[in-house]
Amino acid sequence: MITKLKVYNDIKQYALTGKLAQAYLFLSPDKFTNAELLLALSKLLLCKNGSACGVCEHCAKINAGTHPDVLVFPKDKNFVVDDASKIYDTVQVKPMLSNKKIYIINGIDNATEQAQNKLLKIIEEPPQNVIFLISANTEEKVLSTILSRVFKHHVEKFDEDVLKMTLNGVEKQTANIAISFGDGYLGKTLELASNANFIEYYKNMKNLICNLKKSEQIPYFSGYFSKDKTCFEESLKILNDFFRDVLMIKIDQQQEVKNKDLQFEFLNLSAEYSIQALTKIIENLTQIKKKLDSNVNLTVLADNLLFDILEVKFLCK
Ligand SMILES: [Zn+2]
Repeated sequence: MITKLKVYNDIKQYALTGKLAQAYLFLSPDKFTNAELLLALSKLLLCKNGSACGVCEHCAKINAGTHPDVLVFPKDKNFVVDDASKIYDTVQVKPMLSNKKIYIINGIDNATEQAQNKLLKIIEEPPQNVIFLISANTEEKVLSTILSRVFKHHVEKFDEDVLKMTLNGVEKQTANIAISFGDGYLGKTLELASNANFIEYYKNMKNLICNLKKSEQIPYFSGYFSKDKTCFEESLKILNDFFRDVLMIKIDQQQEVKNKDLQFEFLNLSAEYSIQALTKIIENLTQIKKKLDSNVNLTVLADNLLFDILEVKFLCK
């Protein structure tokens, strides 16, 4: 999947045309994508077949984490001065199996200033055959001196089709839900696809938004939220997205609908709610989210939330 990314193919192009730089910084909020991208690139750059083939001597060793010329950092959770020292001590040593030596550094934005400064000294004047592949979730916590020494690439999100292919084998509804809420991030999508709780919350919220019609039903639907705070928070997020989708249909912005699977249900709902009601409900959901952060009784909060939805729907006819 990674090989479909534009950023991967850009680097491939640089390598083919001999325009490879010595230090790159890749930016994506998705840690998983970053880590996979750096590994894929290291394979691409050392592969005997020039394609990250996965089977040649170099690719196989990188896959197994045993390639002597591909060094992955941090060794522990975050990149620390010790990691930078290890790089400093080994950077002059010639590669053993290939003509390049690759340092992979995941999450440089989590490193302390000290560790980054130590790394900076190395990337200022690296030996000829050394390449640094560095990643970060955001560039805000990366020292400007480092930023000025690297070629920066933003990692784009994945297309829906690519994500669908990745989730091939996952039950269809689960895959669709994960893709809708994964925001185009591979790691987040995979995580959601295997998160049975989230799938349950989604189904509950779908049932709620389609069937909540009168106040007698409130105690029943309220139970969907009150299991615990995480359940409440996640359910609230999903419900918020659903109402937003209904609003998008109501104002003829179908292309903005996130949960395409529910388009038919949302179309029916859009006839039941006015634009004003939908806007007000979305506002209320944001307020509820704030209240959730201060310790309140979850059942009471859920009751209020559902009562408000019915009331607003009725008042803003
Ligand atoms: Zn290979």
